[in-house]
Amino acid sequence: MNDATRDLREMVRAIPDYPKTGIIFRDVTTLFGNAEGLARTVDAIADHVAGHGIDLIAGIDARGFILGGALAVRMRKGFVPIRKRGKLPADVYREEYSLEYGTDEVEIHKDAVPAGGATVLLVDDLIATGGTAIAAARLIQRAGGTVPMAAFAIDLPELGGARKLAGIGIDSYAVMS
Ligand code: AMP
Repeated sequence: MNDATRDLREMVRAIPDYPKTGIIFRDVTTLFGNAEGLARTVDAIADHVAGHGIDLIAGIDARGFILGGALAVRMRKGFVPIRKRGKLPADVYREEYSLEYGTDEVEIHKDAVPAGGATVLLVDDLIATGGTAIAAARLIQRAGGTVPMAAFAIDLPELGGARKLAGIGIDSYAVMS
């Protein structure tokens, strides 16, 4: 880890035992609330994905909207929201995925990817087990997009998410781990 990344890591607040005992919640509000923190996180991802032919950015509800929205403007690409169940107004595809306890569901508008397809960069604040990102990638694929890459502010490598994404052919990049 270089000095620049160490700085960014220090901007992420760790909250022990949130939302439940044993979880250390990586709170990115402190990173995104810092002008340098947000800009440098977005710049790092934009630099990493440059030249990979990205047509569209998809962000995962809700912190992926902050990072993905900023990145879309920076890269001058459109933005597609992947939302929790019941929030999108038009016809949707839905995927269920497992959480530590129970399941959750995410949705995408069926027409989110233009006819003829698009190369989509998937974005979220953090990858842990990878369940959320894999469900989101499936939605994009069902909508007609290809997802060669996913980008995160933070990877928790001990939880294996990036490895799982690699296993389905998605190269994942995180600004810090
Ligand atoms: P996973 O599906 O296990 O990869 O979890 C990733 C999703 O859950 C992302 O949308 C994260 O925002 C959230 N998440 C999981 N674990 C944490 C954590 N320790 N701190 C903050 N957010 C987390």
